[in-house]
Amino acid sequence: MRRINLKKANVARADTIRYINRQIVLNYVREKEPISRAEISHETALQRSTVSLIVDELKTRGLIYEIEGESTGGRPPTLLRLQAGACMAIGADVGTAQTTMAVADLAGRVVERETFTTDPDITATFRKVVSVVQRFTKTHQNIEGIGVCVPGLVDPETEIPLFVPYFKWRNWTVASDLTKITGLPVTVDNDANAAALAELWLGRPEIRDVRDFILVLVEDGLGTGIIFDGQVYQGVAGGAGEFGHMTIGKGAPVACAAGSEECWEAFASERAALARYKLRRRGAPGSDITFLQLIDRAFADDNDAKEALIETAYYLGLGVSNLTKGLSPEAVIVAGDIARAWPIISGELRRTLAANSICSGLPSTPLFASTLGDYARLMGALSLVLARKFSPVVPA
Ligand SMILES: [Zn+2]
Repeated sequence: MRRINLKKANVARADTIRYINRQIVLNYVREKEPISRAEISHETALQRSTVSLIVDELKTRGLIYEIEGESTGGRPPTLLRLQAGACMAIGADVGTAQTTMAVADLAGRVVERETFTTDPDITATFRKVVSVVQRFTKTHQNIEGIGVCVPGLVDPETEIPLFVPYFKWRNWTVASDLTKITGLPVTVDNDANAAALAELWLGRPEIRDVRDFILVLVEDGLGTGIIFDGQVYQGVAGGAGEFGHMTIGKGAPVACAAGSEECWEAFASERAALARYKLRRRGAPGSDITFLQLIDRAFADDNDAKEALIETAYYLGLGVSNLTKGLSPEAVIVAGDIARAWPIISGELRRTLAANSICSGLPSTPLFASTLGDYARLMGALSLVLARKFSPVVPA
């Protein structure tokens, strides 16, 4: 049972209860649509009259609509559906190479997308973000808010990216600055946290009902997002999930972002796989390739490429086994371009995980490739708005 945090507990005023009930009904429609008032009442144990009042309010606000269900003899039942286009979200995934922005509806369907090169100059990147937001808000109606994800540490209280190591950006007031210019609420989080949130809200059905899981985002670096009891576990100042820097061994093929050759990131990131490939090719011409090219070559039966990926999968699995021993999640998801190489790496990943789970006495944790495809971080940025919209947490 969850212990009530007395520092944060609000006195349950009537409007607080009404707010929470409304969010519960809205979430039922979102996840179980089409659904009838009677089914919602039955499943939530809310009174029929309460459900009807809430449904009327949600209809008036244009968030849900009615359809006629199939008749089983008598009058056909009235079912409720989510009005996906009623609220739109803007997402901005500020990456180390590129920034991708998109507009999507409540169901996470992307209707417009734009990509530009991220400028190492923080002001220049912010200006580009603003101009895309302004273009999006001109062409799309009902924009509910903006979600931004960055490859760095974000304070969950202030939503300020405290540090983005790749660009050495510090204390970026992107949320308040964007709100000042656009008038829209802005939510900011770390990219791995956001991608984990996207799996929770928009991901594969096996994950949507899971309350505790870990997402491992493999890129140039390696980040993790921890979903604990259906929400992102942030830790003090958003510092949780820095498992990329846990010690795995000695003599990694590359150094981590902080210069160590003992960190998980140094053994299991894209850079590590590429270094392994180059080593196998003894630096021969044509061995300096991108990670996507490495995957393509592995699928085209380049044995060195395959082995470089499989060796990387071994270290990825080793780190995952440590995480599962410490946190015992219901599932682990691997995201990033490496998910495309799943048919090549999944065997080694699962073998390593199974072999290293024995001492915990528990069966090895189910492992999945992310279904969010190439846009896990972008979907993460969008789901920051979605989670805010559907969250049962009363806004302050
Ligand atoms: Zn490190």
